[in-house]
Amino acid sequence: VLANRIASGTCRNVNYVSKLFQPQNIIPKDSKVKKEDSLSKSQKLMQDLGVIHQAGTGIFHLLPLGERSLQKLINIVDDEMRKINAQKLLLPLLTPGELWKVTGRWEDLGEELFTLKDRHDKEFVLSPTHEEAITELMASIPQLSYRQLPLRLYQVTSKFRDEIRPRFGLLRGKEFVMKDLYTFDVSADAATETYKTKNMITVEECAVSAASGVMGGSVSHEYHFPANTGEAQLFICESCGYVASVEKCPPSQCPECSHGFLQCCCGIEVGHTFLLGTKYSLPLKARFTTAGGNADFLQMGSYGLGMTRILAAGVEVLSLPNEMRWPTALAPFTVCIIPPKEGSKESVVTHLAEELYYRLNSVDCFRNDLIIDDRCNMTIGKRLLEARRIGYPFIVVVGRKALQPVPEFEVHHIFSNVETSIAESAIVEYL
Ligand code: ATP
Ligand code: MG
Ligand code: MG
Ligand code: MG
Repeated sequence: VLANRIASGTCRNVNYVSKLFQPQNIIPKDSKVKKEDSLSKSQKLMQDLGVIHQAGTGIFHLLPLGERSLQKLINIVDDEMRKINAQKLLLPLLTPGELWKVTGRWEDLGEELFTLKDRHDKEFVLSPTHEEAITELMASIPQLSYRQLPLRLYQVTSKFRDEIRPRFGLLRGKEFVMKDLYTFDVSADAATETYKTKNMITVEECAVSAASGVMGGSVSHEYHFPANTGEAQLFICESCGYVASVEKCPPSQCPECSHGFLQCCCGIEVGHTFLLGTKYSLPLKARFTTAGGNADFLQMGSYGLGMTRILAAGVEVLSLPNEMRWPTALAPFTVCIIPPKEGSKESVVTHLAEELYYRLNSVDCFRNDLIIDDRCNMTIGKRLLEARRIGYPFIVVVGRKALQPVPEFEVHHIFSNVETSIAESAIVEYL
């Protein structure tokens, strides 16, 4: 029945597994990346299950499942940014090479910088980050006043870095998506207060004191997901929980509590924040008019979150060897509905699966966040196995118990590995 409806195109606005563009089990063209040992668990699963597709070394297509997940993360970040009155904008990805020479980063970033020339021989950078571009924007505004400050501006865009060793899929790409927030304050004190604001960065749990590296500035914190595959080396104090990145080279005794010993562990760096002071506003002459009528340099901060890296890090940390697991809020679809097999006894109640789809779809928190596995020529068991591999947080099977006088559905909660029978009438509430 379902198959006929799809063929005739009468079911619109429904997400069908049969229609999903999800090319699976692709062997990458680049023979170098075929070696199993060079793939992280998340890269292998995301490629095998059609979430991403490799376009070249360190370059990936985000297929519909991957794009959905990224969009969910962007929505979460947008919500958090609204809470701190940050405004979203889009800066050009192509920035004049001249800016990078003025700040000294043309040299400092060296070969990691993707540079190119236009037809007039003018140099450009495919931006790896946007301090230069946004500071130049501020510098170009005549008579920026203290009344317009503090200002918080952010974007979610692609960044380009010619990494020495791009690897592990979205964890370290040549091109990746970053959320970058820049703050502008009237004084160093105000900028420090801004830096301490909660929600400045969405990941709060794992701040790490870090060296500022080529970004510059005096204070900086990294944010890590603890994971064995993580390329960052961290030191954690067994006594007070202080964490430092290896670049800061801490002594064996904790600098925070001065009695605990520091243990070594690995992490995936997902975010990095910097209190920049006037590192960029000075060379690029980004000034504002103070209350006293004088000109002063903007005090800046920058806050970067690796969006595509966070997706991969979540999958990396949570997945089983052969089954993908997502942070529930980032799963491409929250619910997968599996109707009965064609020609089976249960197929007389196939309409219950469709009704459930429409009912859930009318609830705000599930709208367009459901998919129905309409490949009814396949057994329920086979489709269930696939849905588990993709890691939809809830899988609802319309099976044998749906034939009862009071129909019940099987609900599989992937994370707790619990299967429950829920009456049809109670299912929306339960989910
Ligand atoms: P790493 O130490 O892993 O090379 P980084 O310190 O060079 O990262 P930052 O300049 O601090 O990176 O950029 C902010 C965030 O962008 C990082 O915390 C990370 O989440 C993300 N990021 C950086 N490089 C990459 C990359 N090549 N691929 C994916 N995400 C990246
Ligand atoms: Mg780097
Ligand atoms: Mg780093
Ligand atoms: Mg960093």
